[in-house]
Amino acid sequence: MSSNKLLKLLERKFYKTGQTRGADDDEIYQNRVNRNNTVLIPFNTYNELKTYPYGNPNYENGFIVLIPPEEYFTKKDDIDKSLILGKNMLIFYETREQWNAYNPANYGFRFATSRNNPLGGEFVARVPATTSIQDSSKISLGFTDKTLKGAGIRVYEYASTDIIKRCKLQLEAIFWMCKNADATLLDFGMSNDDEIATRKQKIFEECKKYNLLNFDKLIKQRIINSNRHAICPLCLEELDAHGFFDKVQQAHGREVVDLTVTQLNLFHIRELRVGEFNHAPYNLGWGHHHCNIVVKDSGIYETLDWMRNVIERNDIYDKLSSNC
Ligand SMILES: [Zn+2]
Repeated sequence: MSSNKLLKLLERKFYKTGQTRGADDDEIYQNRVNRNNTVLIPFNTYNELKTYPYGNPNYENGFIVLIPPEEYFTKKDDIDKSLILGKNMLIFYETREQWNAYNPANYGFRFATSRNNPLGGEFVARVPATTSIQDSSKISLGFTDKTLKGAGIRVYEYASTDIIKRCKLQLEAIFWMCKNADATLLDFGMSNDDEIATRKQKIFEECKKYNLLNFDKLIKQRIINSNRHAICPLCLEELDAHGFFDKVQQAHGREVVDLTVTQLNLFHIRELRVGEFNHAPYNLGWGHHHCNIVVKDSGIYETLDWMRNVIERNDIYDKLSSNC
């Protein structure tokens, strides 16, 4: 692989960290888009989430508050005056009971057609099909067209352009801190050590400019170890840079590489959850795909507790069964 192609491939991996996770067609969320897109704020969390805590407090592409119909119709007069149906708020139908009790046709409401004010309608619906009753096919209205799929992103996945950039920079620097990053790139066709050194130096200097790469902080966050090598935040193993390339790319590498190398993915140290914005530089590292799946939404420490319990129970079980 040429050096250029190789760098583009890596760039792509770093670029993708600025995108949201996937969403199915039936969901209300956009599928893998930039983290600075329009955010969807659940009505009951509006007060805590109406502003972004890092830098510019305004969401770069606005927000839409989603209110359940029963809340809208019973609390109408008490709703925050800054929230206006069709401008920055939509009624969100998720169940058949809601749809039947507050059918939008009875109020002359239309489904929304835009992510920006004016939203072109008053509601959006994602009601799943049910098999038990008649006339119960799924209801999917608003933001279903190919060109306008999904009303926005999950609010906790949001990050400003500036934060996305800082995260990306530091994540590349962490890649270069893999114990075998240089050797791996030479394996894959980067032409010489100079080229690698130049790229590395450039990234480290950029990070410095932005006040990033505080090593103590990175160690504390389980992103690197005291040898200043990148590690997996869950299992703490030093990362093998081959894991940044998928199997197809590996097969094209010049050297014979171990195809069982675990894939490496973006890893959130504190899990993403409503009420917190966790796409921030010191909350992000690289980790094994497998470890990422194990931690999922529960968090590293909770996962370690769970693992400890699993091991303990197994030890007890083994002891008891050996006496049988
Ligand atoms: Zn791991």
